[in-house]
Parts: sequence; C-alpha cells; structure tokens
Amino acid sequence: MYQTLLKPLFADVKTFVLDTLFPIHCLACEKENREFICVDCKMWLKKLEFQRCVVCQKQAAFGKTHPGCMTPRCADGLIGFYDYHDKKVAQIIIKGKYNFLPSAFRSLAELIAPKISADHPHLLSATPLALSPIPLHTSRHRWRGFNQAEILCRTLSAQLNLPIAEVLQRQKATQIQKDLKKDQRLKNVRGAFKLKPGANVDGQNLILVDDVATTGATLLEAAGVLKRNGAKSVWCLTVARD
Ligand SMILES: [Zn+2]
Ligand SMILES: [Zn+2]
Repeated sequence: MYQTLLKPLFADVKTFVLDTLFPIHCLACEKENREFICVDCKMWLKKLEFQRCVVCQKQAAFGKTHPGCMTPRCADGLIGFYDYHDKKVAQIIIKGKYNFLPSAFRSLAELIAPKISADHPHLLSATPLALSPIPLHTSRHRWRGFNQAEILCRTLSAQLNLPIAEVLQRQKATQIQKDLKKDQRLKNVRGAFKLKPGANVDGQNLILVDDVATTGATLLEAAGVLKRNGAKSVWCLTVARD
C-alpha cells in the first residue's frame, strides 16, 4: 500500500514543498527552472569549434598533443567541450563552485558524457582505463564542501561505465589559477601534486578530469606525476576551455 500509493504521493509533496521553498533558477539565464541548467541553455551553450594542443595551445586534431610538443612525461592530449568565453558556460561553472552547488557539475557531466562516446571514442578505447579527478587542496575542499572534479567523475563514471581512480593528492595549497598570469600559473602549480600513499598507476591509462582548462598548466603538472609513476597514457578531459 505504502509503496504503491503513498510513497509516490509523498515524493510529489516533497518535490512541491522543496520547489516552493527553494525554487531553482537556471544558473545561465536565471529563469526559474527544475534544474540548474534549463533546456534552452543546454541547447545553446557554445561548443568549442576545435580542439587545441595542451602544450602549445594551437589547433590539434582530436586534441592529441602534437608530436613535436610531446615529451615522455607529457599528457597525451586534452579534450574540452564548451567555450569558457561563452558567458553562460562561465556562469554555470563559477556559480556552481562559489554558490556551493555540486548539482551544477552533475548536470554538466550528464551533458558531456554522450558527446564523449559519440565524438571521442578514441578516449575510451584504452584498457585498463579509469577516470581520475584533479584534487583540491584539503583546505579548499573543506571550505567548498565538494570537489567539482570528483562530482564530474562520479557522474561520468556511472554514464560511461568507467572506474574512478583517486590517485593524486595536492601537497601544497596553490593560488587560484585564474588570478595569475601564464608564467605565474606554471610556477604556482609546480610540485603541487603527488601520488597518494599506496596508489599504483603503473601500466594504467588514465583520464584526468577537471572543470576548466585555461593554460593547461594544472593538467600538465598532474599528468607529469602520473607518467613519472609509470602511467601508460594520460588524457585530460575538461567541461570547458578558456
Ligand atoms: Zn537557462
Ligand atoms: Zn602543440
């Protein structure tokens, strides 16, 4: 009786009360909505027109690091989906982080998961393969209450049926990259990561996940740690690219 009749009724009442007390607004257009990204904004978020090399930032087929830019400890490539210069894209990510809304990142991951399978199948072909979130420093994680890269990984893991390997940790608190110039960004992240005690990435193929890539300095630094520890391939995946 409870299962068949009352439970759905209570679920409806709960949704109604929550929607009335805490109406959700689309983070991009601010219209009242049931999700953090409304259907219209989902359609019109500006996609990247082409992929760029994570090292030299110039156009690169499938996001693969140019052979001339590649070194033994370099990331094999970077795939981004949306253009961070699009105000709506930036607003969703910034508000998601600074208004403490992990659901915004669940919605973004749901948007990009089918695009990964459809447009970048090469990213999923390596075995064994796992998703690895770029970690936040403990102090920032505690302040925000969540790591957006972990939220992205969890949703992508469920949708793409891939395991998560939380193998990295931050060993120094870095300044927020977006406030720094390019050469300062490189210095800022140098030595920022190390392998978690007991983690083993030898022979692993990993996809490093983060919300935004600007210069790619953070991703390159993290990929370097994984490669130094024996990772076979390291690709980077971000929702947006600056
Ligand atoms: Zn909207
Ligand atoms: Zn290049």
